[in-house]
Formats: sequence, C-alpha cells, structure tokens
Amino acid sequence: MMKLADFSKIRRSVEKTLDPKRYEHTLGVTYTAAALAMCYDVDIRKAQIAGLLHDCAKCIDHQKKIHICEKHNIEINDIERQNPFLLHAKVGSYIAMHKYNIVDEDILHAILNHTTGRPAMSLLEKIVYIADYIEPCRRQAPNLKLIRKEAFTDIDKALTIILEDILVYLDSLNSDIDPMTRQTYEYYVNKRQGVLNE
Ligand code: FE
Ligand code: FE
Repeated sequence: MMKLADFSKIRRSVEKTLDPKRYEHTLGVTYTAAALAMCYDVDIRKAQIAGLLHDCAKCIDHQKKIHICEKHNIEINDIERQNPFLLHAKVGSYIAMHKYNIVDEDILHAILNHTTGRPAMSLLEKIVYIADYIEPCRRQAPNLKLIRKEAFTDIDKALTIILEDILVYLDSLNSDIDPMTRQTYEYYVNKRQGVLNE
C-alpha cells in the first residue's frame, strides 16, 4: 500500500493539474471519503487516494480527453462523445494507473465509476461517489443536509437519494442522461426494497 510520502507527492502533483476551485473540491472529497471509510471500516488510505485522484482528469480539455481515449483504445459511448466532460472519469482512472502507478483495482474502479455509479458498487466506490456529492464545498444540491446524515447511517439510502436527485435535476434541464445512472438508481431502489421486505 501507498506510503505517506507517496500520498503527499500525488497531492502536490494533482494540485498542479487542477484549477484552485477543483483542487479545493478534491481535498474536500479526500477527507470526506476518509471519514466515510472510518465509519464503514474501509481502508482509509485507499479512500484518500481515490478521493485525491477522482477528478485528476477534470481540467484536461475536451479534445485532449478524446485524444487520450482514442490513443489508448478507451471506448467512448455516444453520450460521452456529446458530453466529453463525462470522460474525465475514464481518463482519470487511466492517469491514476499510468502516471500515479495505482494498481489497486478498487481504487481504479472508484475513479472510473464516480460520475455515473454502477449497480453493485463496492463500499469504496460508494464512498467516493457519495463524498463527491456531499463534501463541504458543495452547497447547491437539494436534500444535502439529509444526504450528509444518511451517508454516515445508511449508505445505500444516501446513494439512492443522490441518484434520484441527479435524475430529476438532469431531467429538468433536458440534459442527456448516461443510461448507467438510471441503471444504478434502479438497482439500488430494488436492493433497498428487497431489504425492506425481508
Ligand atoms: Fe468528477
Ligand atoms: Fe468531483
């Protein structure tokens, strides 16, 4: 596992590639992910690294993200081609692997899936997904107060509320919705239903 020196090194490097606002957000996600990891008995260092790197491709311009994908045979779906900002997750996980030498699959998946989620996420994936939404710099989203509380009490409930709010929001803007977001939402609604019916 990563030593402390490596963590600081990654942090300084990430700081150079992000604008100040995105870096603040990144630090927020990093310590929120660490707190959630404490709560759910997940490796704290892994949560910090995943949080630190989740948006490492966010400030790469769209053309370059598309170029990186094409060069390295990373598949781009229609929604991603029309909304290249979505590619920062795939490109970020690629950069985590090749620039920061992250080999831990769970960390790479947490970066890869942090924009849409996916059905049956690992705890670490959920933690990064949720930390991205609730970190202290976030102020706009509805239900934040409730979601922040639920994140530390019922993680799947927090996840379901976030996904529902995102779907409602994107719908209200008439934005494209990555089908994975809806699939993830339906998976967790059903999962929670199953638990409630047991
Ligand atoms: Fe992101
Ligand atoms: Fe983020």
